Amino acid sequence: MLDTMSDRTIETNKEPYVAGSVRDLSKFILDRNRTQSDEFCNASARLARQQYRSVHPTEIAALKCMDGRLNLSLMTETPVGILHPYRNIGGTFDMGWPFLAQLLKEWVYVSTTKGRDCLMLMTYHYSKGDSHRGCAGHNYDTDAARAGAAELVVQAARVFGRPYRAVHPIMVGIETDDEALVFHSEEGEAFSLADNLDMTPGMLAQHFAHLYPEMRERILIDLLELVKGNQRHIKKVRAANRMPIDLNHREQIIAVGRGFDWLHLPNMALIVGPYGLEWPKAVGTAGKIILSNLKEGRLDPEAGRMLLIAKLAREERGSYGWNMAEEEARFVTREAHRALLSTVPELLDNNFTIHTGVVDASTRLLHLI
Ligand SMILES: [Zn+2]
Repeated sequence: MLDTMSDRTIETNKEPYVAGSVRDLSKFILDRNRTQSDEFCNASARLARQQYRSVHPTEIAALKCMDGRLNLSLMTETPVGILHPYRNIGGTFDMGWPFLAQLLKEWVYVSTTKGRDCLMLMTYHYSKGDSHRGCAGHNYDTDAARAGAAELVVQAARVFGRPYRAVHPIMVGIETDDEALVFHSEEGEAFSLADNLDMTPGMLAQHFAHLYPEMRERILIDLLELVKGNQRHIKKVRAANRMPIDLNHREQIIAVGRGFDWLHLPNMALIVGPYGLEWPKAVGTAGKIILSNLKEGRLDPEAGRMLLIAKLAREERGSYGWNMAEEEARFVTREAHRALLSTVPELLDNNFTIHTGVVDASTRLLHLI
């Protein structure tokens, strides 16, 4: 899906998607969600996930920027549904934010009571070729983006304790031209996979044991699986000799909530995780970006614009947990709408639609309410 980016055209749903030009957004997102859900649920995908899980039991969370290029499953050749993403503008998080704290607490509790270890990837991203393909959320300042990720490792260490045992946070850089990962040790050593493509699995194991001396062997083995996958992926990206992904904003959708894995398209959506108290402000910022996309001619004038709200529910449909997710989605919709109305009222014209729904975590299907 990320292979031929030079003309911003991507094959998806068997029809070309050109960023900034989708007119019927409702149809587009529902079709795409259905296709991706079918892929996620088919027997082969389920078996691959089940097998991967039994061989690599470590639960892995990735805190990352909302930038649509950061598809870690693709970059590490990991089956979809193994890595748990948390996305926000600029990859900026604070573990004290109420909703984030609650989610992470639950994730660690569920994982550890199942006997599984937890690996947390605190990520930042940049481009080796052009700083303006870096993180817009940090004004293309890679040092600031890296410092934010480093601070998250410190926070996680405070929360989950040292020495690292069941929960191990690490800082990871994502270089988006090669789609290559950079692993940072706590001592400030950086290990770029793009510069070490010929390292054998044995050499990698040795080097990672040196980078992360506190890491449990189980976590190390499962981390190395991602590392080897990324090594293969970088070779493919280089062999394809593709142009770096164009990052001129062309987003049409403001997506608020979680469960948007299926919407993984560069330049399609700005994703705001309502993790902190000031999330409506981020919705306003996203609204300003969409409006400027429109005003500055980066969108087809007839292209649709949308506010899409989704809650991710692990409970069965019809259960109180699911119903609660619906109520939360309605609440987030009201607040997000209010934020747009006060920041960018002119965006809310006839071409603007609002959809609210709940994504079933077991199928990835979006159920509109
Ligand atoms: Zn970013």
